[in-house]
Amino acid sequence: MSKKAIAVLTSGGDAPGMNAAVRAVTRSAIASGMRVIGVRRGYNGLLNGDVIDMNLRSVSDIIHRGGTTLFTARSPEFNSPEGVKKAGETCRQLGVDGVVVIGGDGSFRGARDLTNEGIPCVGIPGTIDNDIACSEYTVGFDTAMNTAMEMVDRIRDTAQSHDRCSVVEVMGRRCGDIALETGIAVGATAILVPEVPFDLQKDVIDRMMTSQLTGKKHYIVIVAEGVGGVDAIAKEIQAKTGIESRATVLGHVQRGGSPTVRDRVVASEMGDKAVQLLLQGIGNRVVAMKNGKIVDYDITEALDMKRVFRKDLYDVAIKISI
Ligand code: ADP
Repeated sequence: MSKKAIAVLTSGGDAPGMNAAVRAVTRSAIASGMRVIGVRRGYNGLLNGDVIDMNLRSVSDIIHRGGTTLFTARSPEFNSPEGVKKAGETCRQLGVDGVVVIGGDGSFRGARDLTNEGIPCVGIPGTIDNDIACSEYTVGFDTAMNTAMEMVDRIRDTAQSHDRCSVVEVMGRRCGDIALETGIAVGATAILVPEVPFDLQKDVIDRMMTSQLTGKKHYIVIVAEGVGGVDAIAKEIQAKTGIESRATVLGHVQRGGSPTVRDRVVASEMGDKAVQLLLQGIGNRVVAMKNGKIVDYDITEALDMKRVFRKDLYDVAIKISI
């Protein structure tokens, strides 16, 4: 009987730690006697047969690298019944018994469809935004926050020297987690996230004026991408307070860089878990973190879950950042 084979791909937005996950999947599968096929550029690679045989050395020297050495892509062609069918046929031709998909919600929808097509798939949450409802943690989140923190620390030096207010946009379209934790870590006076409605006058400007009465002279306001409008916010702050205000959008710098310890370790543990599931022939699952432990959920159930924002942590942030 021929060896069982699994394929591994990275899909959607890249995140630091994806390489560590690919490495773990590859080595764990080989340790269990499986063949491993690396698929390039997400689902596109399954549509056009852009695949490579992986061995132990294929994943050498990548654990510390940001981005994804398998490349990633968005694949509109896959996102159709014909595309999924074609990807399933490629898997059958290659003798693939299961696929590990490292990506976000969109990629997991694809993994669910491919499982329904007869190819068991397991998802690993890989996105800097921490926006996967079923998991407390997504691979890439810690690195992105540390990068954002470092960048804002630098901005703070200049804000402090000039008695300015810096309004900084960090990533997170639907999810304010990067803004929340980075905001706490940099001692932001205000943190604006999509999950909490705010009033610019009351929640930002009045707070700044209160702080000013106690001698504060420079201010950091962190704004999640999903709130946006940093230029307008900075202008309004300056107009209403008279404090010189500057806007900065950190952008893609947060997606790159060498993954932190946490991202490498979580990616390694989740990679191994995904392989163990496929080894048992179990598909349509998402690997996740719950109470610090690695668990797994049915993909459809996972996609239906609602994210819970850490309002308790948000309240602490507001209390202590005055
Ligand atoms: P992410 O995985 O980071 O959320 P996307 O939403 O861009 O990123 O999804 C990545 C890829 O997953 C898409 O390009 C597409 O090929 C596939 N995909 C996304 N949504 C679906 C869906 N509803 N059904 C099937 N495949 C999907």
